Amino acid sequence: MRRFLVAGNWKMHGSKELTAELISGVSRHVLDNARISEQKVLAYDILVCPATPYLQQASTLAEALPIQVGAQNVNANAQGAYTGEVSLSMLSELGCGHVLLGHSERREVFGETDTSIAEKFASCVNGEFDITPVLCIGETLAARQAGETENVVAAQLDAVLDVVGIEGFKDAVIAYEPVWAIGTGETASPEQAQQVHAFIRAKLSGLDAEIADKLRILYGGSVKPGNAEELFAQIDIDGGLIGGASLDVSSFAGICEAAQKLATQA
Ligand code: PEP
Repeated sequence: MRRFLVAGNWKMHGSKELTAELISGVSRHVLDNARISEQKVLAYDILVCPATPYLQQASTLAEALPIQVGAQNVNANAQGAYTGEVSLSMLSELGCGHVLLGHSERREVFGETDTSIAEKFASCVNGEFDITPVLCIGETLAARQAGETENVVAAQLDAVLDVVGIEGFKDAVIAYEPVWAIGTGETASPEQAQQVHAFIRAKLSGLDAEIADKLRILYGGSVKPGNAEELFAQIDIDGGLIGGASLDVSSFAGICEAAQKLATQA
């Protein structure tokens, strides 16, 4: 049984004040909800990915709370003359256990390619730091309309598989995020999302059924408290990567509570 993961991508938003408000507010909400429902512990995982300047603060605040902290990007090199970049060892020192890779904004705005994303993924899984890559993949609206969704997603996966093999996915997470649903308010229907998640799992299963079965595949794209439960109820959807709604305590907590509800029902 895979454990749900609800991950918040704060993007380039935030402040010290908001970091404190979100971490303490979300943990209070979800723990209160768990107590009310007599489930004393959370039956799922929560991850928040603040901007780099707030990682240390977030890690310190989250230390005794059921919230993990991750970064939004990393450089594949161990160190060197890479002005403005951050390495895995630095993220590790900042208390990060996860890093988002290949978010569509990194691909579109910053020109990241399948090749550079695969290098970053390889540095995570081959390196000495225990940092789980969260590989973001997904098609544009044009690709979906052209019937190319599966081809696009397969190519994005193949680029990483070519470098790390299926073994590289043993401790990884995938986030399927249709680009047309990110920050647009337009969500993939549960059926549309499930179809792509099932495709991803089947593709990986063809290489190693056990790894594919254990792999968490998150859905991302305008997830809100009102649609989280029906999305997460899909058999191959193991939680969400949440942008906008992760910046609001009650919205993010509401999405987390959908995971708790599904994980604790018989
Ligand atoms: C994201 O940025 O990964 C995302 C899914 O954003 P939103 O939830 O705002 O669509």
